[in-house]
Amino acid sequence: YALLTLWGYYVALDALMWYIEPLQPIPQTALNIVHLFNLSVVFAMFSYLASYYLSMVVSAQRKLREMATTDSLTGLFNRRHMTYLAEKEVSRFRRSGHPVGFLLLDVDHFKSINDAFGHEAGDRVLGCVADVIREELRAQDLIGRWGGEEFIVLAANSTLDDGAQLAERLRSHVEALDFGELGVVTISVGVAEWRKGDTRKALVARADEAMYRAKNSGRNCVRY
Ligand code: GH3
Ligand code: MG
Ligand code: MG
Repeated sequence: YALLTLWGYYVALDALMWYIEPLQPIPQTALNIVHLFNLSVVFAMFSYLASYYLSMVVSAQRKLREMATTDSLTGLFNRRHMTYLAEKEVSRFRRSGHPVGFLLLDVDHFKSINDAFGHEAGDRVLGCVADVIREELRAQDLIGRWGGEEFIVLAANSTLDDGAQLAERLRSHVEALDFGELGVVTISVGVAEWRKGDTRKALVARADEAMYRAKNSGRNCVRY
């Protein structure tokens, strides 16, 4: 309303000028210059506003996308985004036939870490484990947090053996981490490889089953 009032005031003032003789007439050239100046100012203002809003929208969009695809605790991709990427990887696999390895990692006895040292210590452990996985992987591998203390890795161009080697490397790196009073933290890993005719669910189920075999074999090991 304030803006509307201001606008009305200026329009009325302008209209009033039509009926009042100027005390000192302005030459036509000066008027033309003023007119051109006005035009330029309005144009510059609109361009600035448009680019300002555009950059705001773009950055908001980027932030939203980041929020929708990453897990805030670990900074890894979240489950939803990993599912999407896995679907994309399946269709790529169908086209190219390049092997794809799938790793499911689960922190061992994580509940007792939480129970003994608190939820925050548990969160710290998750962050460190995520960092180790991130550092160990190649640029083309995809990592995500699958759920509570579970992580998944999609290893491009990796056979079951490559996946198992990678899993073993991750496992030993996590075991070697120094958590001070928290003691040693270990992970169990299930590995699967994409087979012809596999759906995403079938693959996840196979990795899950391998992971449970790792748990049943005493944890801190890799099964495939
Ligand atoms: P197992 O070796 O069989 O995997 O035992 P576990 O204790 O690791 O597995 P379980 O599934 O019994 O417990 C997982 C725990 O992880 C339970 C839950 O409270 C905890 N948890 C899940 N998400 C988070 C999280 O974001 N932060 C923390 N601190 N704890 C979490
Ligand atoms: Mg679990
Ligand atoms: Mg666990």
